Amino acid sequence: MNFLQQRMQTELENKSLFEQARTHAYAYMDGISEMDAFPSKSNLKNMEYFEEPLSKHSCDAVAVIQQLHQYGAPATIAQTGGRYFGFVNGGAIPVSLGVKWLTDVWDQCGGLYLTSPINSKLESVCENWLKNIFGLPKTTVAGFVSGTSMANLCGLAAARFHLLQKMGWDINEKGLQGAPNIRIIAHDQAHASIKKTLALLGYGKNSIEWVASDRQGKCLLEALPPLDASCLVLLQAGNANTGSFDNFDAICDLANKAGAWVHIDGAFGLWAAASKSLSHLTKGIHKASSWAVDGHKTLNTPYDSGVILCKHPRALVSALQASGEYIIYSEQRDPLLYTPELSKRARAIELWATMKYLGSDGIDTMITTFHERAKQLASGLAKLGLEIMNEVVFNQVLVAAAQEKHTEELITYIQCSKKYWLGGSLWNGKRVIRISICSWMTTEEDIENILLLFKRGFVNIVNRAT
Ligand SMILES: *Cc1c(COP(=O)(O)O)cnc(C)c1O
Repeated sequence: MNFLQQRMQTELENKSLFEQARTHAYAYMDGISEMDAFPSKSNLKNMEYFEEPLSKHSCDAVAVIQQLHQYGAPATIAQTGGRYFGFVNGGAIPVSLGVKWLTDVWDQCGGLYLTSPINSKLESVCENWLKNIFGLPKTTVAGFVSGTSMANLCGLAAARFHLLQKMGWDINEKGLQGAPNIRIIAHDQAHASIKKTLALLGYGKNSIEWVASDRQGKCLLEALPPLDASCLVLLQAGNANTGSFDNFDAICDLANKAGAWVHIDGAFGLWAAASKSLSHLTKGIHKASSWAVDGHKTLNTPYDSGVILCKHPRALVSALQASGEYIIYSEQRDPLLYTPELSKRARAIELWATMKYLGSDGIDTMITTFHERAKQLASGLAKLGLEIMNEVVFNQVLVAAAQEKHTEELITYIQCSKKYWLGGSLWNGKRVIRISICSWMTTEEDIENILLLFKRGFVNIVNRAT
């Protein structure tokens, strides 16, 4: 053993670096309800301590952990707490973090059955559970990827393969140049990740037939062009601003009649299907061909957890086909067949743990509670004289003051309180405050408290103006 090997062997044996990590992690957990929702200026400035040249010699492992604890932790977002309402980020359920710790120690290469039998097994289990929760067709297969962006990429690649194959064009053999035209139908509220994905697949913005949406961001049925068997129709479960859902039932019927492929981007919204009182929002999703969904948003698994679900296994597997000669496929499930990566984290294990822990009733309760909190917030904000800009159908609340500059000042006021964080957005041409309720930790009391803050801020701002 060389010097470095000896050192690392000692570190593994005496555990002090892991004890340090654990102590700091516990301190972080215990401090989560008090810490700033967004780092202070001085804590952000302290990230300068990381701007150092790579040292020539290896250093003390505990010192590495220490530096990260001292200057890294204070520069984090209080993501796992209940007071961060920015974007649609979601918290982390304790057991999912615990399982992530444990399985990080296993450090599995999740690509093959042969490189991680347990990951392969739990992917199969998750696949079945997810099909049940979302009510998807029996033939549906799942690929476990880093997030919905990647899941969208997989779904659209499968669609491209399938549609072209039906037109007699094997894209794996012949490529995209000279291929028959695929008509891509998307509405103007498609998530930015859809545009990125289409570009990666060789379809620029100008090649898309954009469809108008209504004031909630739902695809306008009457604006849909006539569909045919060359169409890839992109729908959305959960608009990132309003939380709205497309009319899957009607649009899928039209698409299926025409032989088109429907892909549903359901990053956070597909989980509405798991709530008895909200599942009307996802009516008809089973009629689509592919679905993308995140674990790390609404379901509150740790990052990174996305899933592609596809009704046509052949299309998905062919589109993502790995052809390395050295790859030994087994009789068992080989996860790499369903994702672009070969080596990957065994991320399905956290997803499995989260679903097992919650059970279907627990998932229902959690999702339904997000909606309850969003309604509580919206009704309180309306009472203050603010305008609610969306129908609060799920977990998103868009709110604005009558005057745009007051909206802006309110965002700043709440952000400066450090207790809460929320961001701004543009909706129907108007500056709005965007609030997303998607952490298991957010309580009724949190909502009452942020409402008090809104009230104080709004009174201040309006008084100052008069
Ligand atoms: C977040 C989101 C995405 C992208 O998902 P990632 O997990 O961040 O890659 C796509 N679509 C919608 C509607 C989203 O909310």
